[in-house]
Amino acid sequence: MGGETDTLVVGASAAGLATGAELRRRDLAFEIVEAEGTVATSWRRHYDRLHLHTPKRFSGLPGLPMPKRWPRYPSRDQVVEYLELYQTHFALQPHLDEAVQQIEQIDEGWETTTSSGTWRSANVVIATGRARVPVRPTWPGMALYRGDVLHSSEYRNGEQWRGRAVLVVGFGNSACEQALDLLEHGARVHLAVRSPVNVLPRDLLGVVPVLPLGIVMQRLPPRLGDALAWPMVRSTVGDVTKVGLQKLPYGPNTQIAKDHRVPLLDIGTMAQIKKGHITLHGGLDRFTDDGVVFDDGSKATVDAVILGTGYRAAIGDFLVGWEAVCDSAGTPRTSGVPTALEGLFFCGMHVSPAGMLREIGLEATRIAQQILDQTLSKLDAETDATSL
Ligand SMILES: Cc1cc2nc3c(=O)[nH]c(=O)nc-3n(C[C@H](O)[C@H](O)[C@H](O)COP(=O)(O)OP(=O)(O)OC[C@H]3O[C@@H](n4cnc5c(N)ncnc54)[C@H](O)[C@@H]3O)c2cc1C
Repeated sequence: MGGETDTLVVGASAAGLATGAELRRRDLAFEIVEAEGTVATSWRRHYDRLHLHTPKRFSGLPGLPMPKRWPRYPSRDQVVEYLELYQTHFALQPHLDEAVQQIEQIDEGWETTTSSGTWRSANVVIATGRARVPVRPTWPGMALYRGDVLHSSEYRNGEQWRGRAVLVVGFGNSACEQALDLLEHGARVHLAVRSPVNVLPRDLLGVVPVLPLGIVMQRLPPRLGDALAWPMVRSTVGDVTKVGLQKLPYGPNTQIAKDHRVPLLDIGTMAQIKKGHITLHGGLDRFTDDGVVFDDGSKATVDAVILGTGYRAAIGDFLVGWEAVCDSAGTPRTSGVPTALEGLFFCGMHVSPAGMLREIGLEATRIAQQILDQTLSKLDAETDATSL
């Protein structure tokens, strides 16, 4: 398509839709472009067992809470339904199947080249997700391996591995939930964890969500938040080194602030590790034709390896001059606030102890308000100039 607009929003999932809704609420002109043929494509592709790890009360986007009748932790399908409801509620009409290929700053603002045209706009909001590109590390011997290797983004459910041995690599929320899912489908599950970790229960005593604590803690210096949370972590999760994990030398709040990675919000994986139903290993050293060898030299014969090895935002793929606003890996340095490039914003790139969906909503509101303020001050300046 292509054309002119005040603000071009790139991506039509949680962050893009929330930004569109907040711009609409302020009567600002905008267009949304989306690479895929539907909104919320990322959620449609997630694995079957997935439910939000954050309570729905803290996961709704601005202006439309998640339905009251839904469970505290909505399912993947409900998140998709919610994003569709959100799109309809705010009459958002993204240009679908229009992938952004290049975004470049020009004299009068921004020029965005897509698969079907060129857009010119004063502002661009990049809402393409922190989890845009799966990270797929390689190991020696991988080419010899006869089993299946897939990234956790390609995992749907454990049905095809019933009665078979599967190794999950990583200790993120997806890796740990997929290990649990495989176990529930009758697979023999191995988990390779190379790095030190932090673990929090999703619910205290099985019923009280831990997220509101994260919301309070984010107002404190991370180390103080960690010190206050420590008695709760110790009494619920216990000593993770006893099951063979390494503990990070700092707590979950510092981990988020320093490493930009969330701790595991445990929904039962730890109990299965403790019972020995999930076999824990250290880092993966290499593949063999029928399995893997770990860093300590031990071996496992496995039919499949699932890489729970995370994602990249990879903004460098399409933003000209990305180095000015991203780190060397292409992850934006800021999100929800103005960047070093005038008129350019990112939404949804900040990892927060208060949950990313909640953070996305706050960022979308801030961005729309910032654009409104800029628009009004430009109008004032123009009025002043003509009245002189
Ligand atoms: C498995 C998983 C579970 C999660 N669970 C939770 C949770 O429980 N609670 C929580 O708060 N957060 C959770 N998150 C984090 C976060 O809230 C979600 O990833 C959320 O979907 C982020 O929304 P987004 O719009 O920023 O990105 P995405 O949902 O990734 O959407 C980005 C959109 O941009 C489009 N796009 C990408 N590149 C282009 C391009 N070049 N041109 C045009 N369009 C493009 C994509 O097609 C996509 O539609 C989870 C994340 C994952 C991966």
